[in-house]
Amino acid sequence: MSIQNNIAIVERNIQTAMRERANISGQALVPVKLIAVTKNHTPAEMQQAIDYGLTTIGENRVQEAVAKYDIFGRKLEYHLLGHLQTNKVKQAVPLFDLIHSLDSEKLARHISRVAGELAKIQPALLEVNVAGEATKQGVSLADVLDFARMVSSLPNLVVAGLMTVAPHFDDPEETRPLFHTLYDKFMELKQACIPNCTMEWLSMGMTNDYSVAIEEGANMVRVGTAIFGARNYDIELTRR
Ligand SMILES: *Cc1c(COP(=O)(O)O)cnc(C)c1O
Repeated sequence: MSIQNNIAIVERNIQTAMRERANISGQALVPVKLIAVTKNHTPAEMQQAIDYGLTTIGENRVQEAVAKYDIFGRKLEYHLLGHLQTNKVKQAVPLFDLIHSLDSEKLARHISRVAGELAKIQPALLEVNVAGEATKQGVSLADVLDFARMVSSLPNLVVAGLMTVAPHFDDPEETRPLFHTLYDKFMELKQACIPNCTMEWLSMGMTNDYSVAIEEGANMVRVGTAIFGARNYDIELTRR
């Protein structure tokens, strides 16, 4: 299967899940944004996705994103999905259009300060550890509202929504209640109408579970394997 065929299949599945979501919610179709997760994939593979028409990529590591930015420049939109260390913030803020992994007050203050120096308002999603897994990043469901208030009080950050990396289940149906719970939290924050908290995006769903995530209200999905196949951990992409 080619990368372009794979994208066509993913897009068809997204459309099906959007219609299912409209049935479940009784509301109009909500468009869903597809993030092509290109970590550990080569620029040549990325070019195939770009030729198909995808324009937004997701990366986990700042260095790898910088190397790809050197090649593709501003014709792509860059999203950071992985954990951000404070010592990488200076490189990350000028590059990323959206940071999905904001998970601590310390990181938020750091991002806002660096963004201020660049006269940038940095959009970010708050990462939520919905299942309370010890091994995962993210704030707890109970802390999200307070965290959103804190982050949105910073001058150079905007809370653009919520993100989660759900636990892996062989049967994605088992993830459904977690997605449902995060959607409820997303709506609660949206209605709380905190200034600088636009709550535009609910980023949940990966290769194994993006259809279920959309059915439960996701409007941004992050798909790697279903588009590019298994990741090649041998590729070494660093800034030249
Ligand atoms: C790697 C990754 C993805 C994509 O995972 P696939 O299962 O390959 O679709 C999505 N989100 C995050 C945060 C990731 O680290």
